[in-house]
Amino acid sequence: MKYNISITKTTNSKLDQIDFNAIPFGKTFSDHMFVADYIDGEWTNLAIVPFGDISISPVNLAIHYGQSIFEGMKATKKMDGTPCFFRPLLHSERLNASARRMMMPEVPADLFMEALHLLVGLESAWIPPQEGSALYIRPVMFAMDDMLGVKVSKTYKFIIVTGPVGPYYPKPVKLIAETEFVRAAAGGVGEAKTAGNYAASLYPAQKAIDNGYDQVMWLDAKEFKYVQEVGTMNIFFRIGDKVITPATDGAILKGITRKTLIEIMKEKGYQVEERLVSIDEVVDAYKAGTLKEVFGTGTAAVVANVSHIKYKDVVMELPPVETHELSHLLKNEINQMRSGKIADRFNWIEPVKSLVKVG
Ligand SMILES: *Cc1c(COP(=O)(O)O)cnc(C)c1O
Repeated sequence: MKYNISITKTTNSKLDQIDFNAIPFGKTFSDHMFVADYIDGEWTNLAIVPFGDISISPVNLAIHYGQSIFEGMKATKKMDGTPCFFRPLLHSERLNASARRMMMPEVPADLFMEALHLLVGLESAWIPPQEGSALYIRPVMFAMDDMLGVKVSKTYKFIIVTGPVGPYYPKPVKLIAETEFVRAAAGGVGEAKTAGNYAASLYPAQKAIDNGYDQVMWLDAKEFKYVQEVGTMNIFFRIGDKVITPATDGAILKGITRKTLIEIMKEKGYQVEERLVSIDEVVDAYKAGTLKEVFGTGTAAVVANVSHIKYKDVVMELPPVETHELSHLLKNEINQMRSGKIADRFNWIEPVKSLVKVG
């Protein structure tokens, strides 16, 4: 190991309080977290410590001006109990792409990986064994300078927390295409996993809920014509015998699930097109009866089936989700690759290396 990461173990594990069959998403965290400080141009104070609060100045730059980025990934167990990551290097690369856009320091890939292996190795008992369940991993980095005035912070904190999540059986989602508010414009920060994007989405998301829908389908910021993504997922349309997804254009988050599913579909011989998708094309396909299935993709849900899409005064009701055979196939493919039921022929699964004994 290249880095000197100190480990302080908890004396008060909460592991025995967890029921892996009933885990609420985002509310349960494991015993330890990784923390690091960026000071004088380098990452220092590298440590694994008991999960807990950190202290922040009321004039912390991240709180006021938003230099804050994150990632979301999962560790799962194979049937034989081996804990594994899924394409972790892509998350490291995307974190650094977000960092560059937000004028924040990169976390060297080898540091990211070493911290990840050490932390998740220590917390491996927190990875639920059931297929579809996982240990959700949330790396986050934010500015730590304490002063007012819009400027680039000199100091930062990088933290990785983890928490178990149950199998996600999302009910089919009802989408409403948003024709007044936008998520991101090309040239903005839509490609970065940065805090403000999610704050900006809350108002239109609430409006969707008030109208009886689950999530917003975002359209482009210039013409409100081209589909971008939905909520915090990328989107795919199965139209006739093609699978179409919006090309990433600078305003769309480059999902790792999106990339992964495109690679699986191409392997299986599906005709996948990454290009502009206008909402009119979707409506026309619906009217012609060729819109077979629509699904959102992201680390949390893997695949979420869409049951309805509303655009202006057209409400499109998709065929029953039981008939959405492609999205079911893709979800099983990912979950079974992770559990080891089907071969990892792309080398996406990376076993956790540093299994540290607890206690
Ligand atoms: C994280 C995220 C996604 C999905 O990305 P994955 O890497 O597949 O988890 C899609 N859209 C937005 C806005 C996101 O934040």
